Amino acid sequence: MTTLACYRCGRETTAGPRCDCGEPLWFVPDGAFTPQDLPGMWRYTDLLPVDNPVGLGAAAGGTPLLRTERLDAVAGCRVWVKDEAENPTGSYKDRGSAVAVAQATQRGRTAIGTVSYGNMAMSTAATAASAGLDCVVLVPIDTPPVRLELIASYGPTVLRVPGDYGTLYDEVLDLDVSVEFYLSDPPERIAGYATCVHELVTEAPDPPDALALPASSGGFASGVYRGLLDCRAANLLTDLPRLYVVQTAASDPITRAFEADAEEVSSLPADEVEDTVATSIGNPAPPSGTRALAAARATGGAVVSVTDDELTEAKRQFAERAGLSVEASAAAPLAGVQTLGERGELAADESVVLLPTGTGFKEAGTGDSSVTIETVERDALRERLTAVGQ
Ligand SMILES: *Cc1c(COP(=O)(O)O)cnc(C)c1O
Ligand SMILES: [Zn+2]
Repeated sequence: MTTLACYRCGRETTAGPRCDCGEPLWFVPDGAFTPQDLPGMWRYTDLLPVDNPVGLGAAAGGTPLLRTERLDAVAGCRVWVKDEAENPTGSYKDRGSAVAVAQATQRGRTAIGTVSYGNMAMSTAATAASAGLDCVVLVPIDTPPVRLELIASYGPTVLRVPGDYGTLYDEVLDLDVSVEFYLSDPPERIAGYATCVHELVTEAPDPPDALALPASSGGFASGVYRGLLDCRAANLLTDLPRLYVVQTAASDPITRAFEADAEEVSSLPADEVEDTVATSIGNPAPPSGTRALAAARATGGAVVSVTDDELTEAKRQFAERAGLSVEASAAAPLAGVQTLGERGELAADESVVLLPTGTGFKEAGTGDSSVTIETVERDALRERLTAVGQ
């Protein structure tokens, strides 16, 4: 059983998605923390608002927690990785889609929709397809062909919409249609994201000192915070690990609010937003930004920004030191931890769990020029190979 409540004023309600105070709601579990013998994230069904995995949703979560020793030297602390790229469509969004689609099915919906050209679109389309629901994805007019191909492969109706994309969500919610549109941070999705923490806390040999994750809308950070509170309520944690929220310097409203000691996150004006390699984390008006800020503060963590160069370098380190291909946005936790270490906020003997949120495979063919490949003539092969492994 779960109750819909506001994280900020504690008010309980039966209807969402927002509290009267303006902040987003989440589900507070009042069920027992008793892991079930079910696959992936459904081990924690007791803490979810649904108990009926449908289609691909049954494969969400259950991602590995890896001790990645070779990242310690570059991160400046003891690094663990909870690899969210290993979800069925390659991002943590699948945990949210699993709950959202299960709930849509329960409510008798036949069609769901989303406004996204990234992982949210792919995850929603794939999970809907597997559950036999129609899916509509609204994308900006200039969405790159590679993106369209990935989204379209799951068979949704993809509609390119000209004009200001930022206002599209509000507009579609006002259209009186039978398609249920999902925002990036509804309570169902947040509940799904929380299972990432339920898994890692129950699997980690010792409670970590800190967690680091990328943030855009602040939905994932909110889910992770919810998961930490659940684990503390179940006495699996005495102290909450510090939550480090990492943004791209190209669009970092949450970092700015943190540094300014502001109560709330304000939207960035369009002329303060830059292009970035981190295409999944550029939201200048994060609907759960203030909640992500609250999570960092309440746990004694911080919000930091990193540059494109730092993201590209961190992406390379993930691959070359941990064998993990992550997208540039998902490399943010490693880049952020490096920055925090330099500031003296993290000690070398502390353990930090990085949460890379999405696979790098989807960025193939997008022009990463950091790889150098040699050609070698056959008669030079022996000599060349002699130098390898020296
Ligand atoms: C959606 C997404 C994020 C940002 O998550 P929010 O919930 O919007 O803060 C980060 N990384 C990847 C790979 C994503 O797809
Ligand atoms: Zn409230």
